[in-house]
Amino acid sequence: MTVSIVVPLYNEEENITILHSSLTKTLKTIQGDYEIIYIDDGSTDNTLTLLEEIQKGDSNVVVLSLRRNFGQTAAFAAGFDFARGDVVITMDGDMQNDPEDIPRLLEAIENHDLVSGWRKNRKDTFLTRRLPSMIANWLISRVTGVRLHDYGCSLKAYRREVVKNLRLYGEMHRFIPAVASWYGVRIKEIETVHHPRLRGKSKYGISRTIKVLLDLITVKFLQSFSTKPIQFFGPMGVLFGLMGFIISLYLSIEKILMGVAIGGRPMLLLGALLIIVGVQFIGMGLLGEMIVRVYHESQKKPIYTIKKILSSS
Ligand code: UDP
Ligand code: MG
Repeated sequence: MTVSIVVPLYNEEENITILHSSLTKTLKTIQGDYEIIYIDDGSTDNTLTLLEEIQKGDSNVVVLSLRRNFGQTAAFAAGFDFARGDVVITMDGDMQNDPEDIPRLLEAIENHDLVSGWRKNRKDTFLTRRLPSMIANWLISRVTGVRLHDYGCSLKAYRREVVKNLRLYGEMHRFIPAVASWYGVRIKEIETVHHPRLRGKSKYGISRTIKVLLDLITVKFLQSFSTKPIQFFGPMGVLFGLMGFIISLYLSIEKILMGVAIGGRPMLLLGALLIIVGVQFIGMGLLGEMIVRVYHESQKKPIYTIKKILSSS
């Protein structure tokens, strides 16, 4: 088995050298080949210079230098595209994850497609990091149905097929288990060690909570309706349209049969609004249906994933 380690780095000059030696120490003990892919995500400090030196002295190292800071998700995506291993392991480059957990991840991946780390004793501040993260993990688990204690842990192992099929956008790396669950992957969570950040600065703050919430809406929508958008927009459209129709009908009867003036009635406005909104929703659903077809048919992407084929021919 060959293993690819994918590590995104953004201004981690103080960590990179120590990280590399502790990673190498652990990787020498595992069976089979390995490669370490360091992705310099447009660092403005000495990270890239240090990486160049490390690469010169170690043929197991691949360095990808991104042209600017694209963010952690893009850095992971670049690593996934270049990874050659049968198993791909991601981790942070700030020494908060422990390379010594890697052998346990490799053991667990034997019978699973995705193994996710769980920072049970997480060493970050409570109010700004651990509490929002607890709420987020609970919410993501409930909404997506993929129950994990710790979505945010970067230390994860994947089988090659999983990462090669993944398409990541925005800051979706936190949602990989939920996204991958669409493919029907077998997921396991194992406890991993977590250290406080001793050197360098964290790149995230409390502001990402709201972003995570919005991303969750996207993930849930894609998970449930990506091949049938009209089933999402349609029912709302029908409901609103019907309510608008009933209101308008009622007003029409009053006007025509009883001669009541309806020009100044708020209900008239509501009825018209509901009909327009209803038509809009159904129109959006139909547009969605066309987009789904263009997406799948132009790229020959199937709407299913096959695990095994049993056939005698
Ligand atoms: N990182 C990156 N690009 C970015 C932000 C972060 O490659 O735009 C890397 C960073 O260098 C680190 C990892 O992603 O290796 C996790 O970042 P950080 O430690 O700041 O996140 P935290 O642990 O505080 O959630
Ligand atoms: Mg960190």
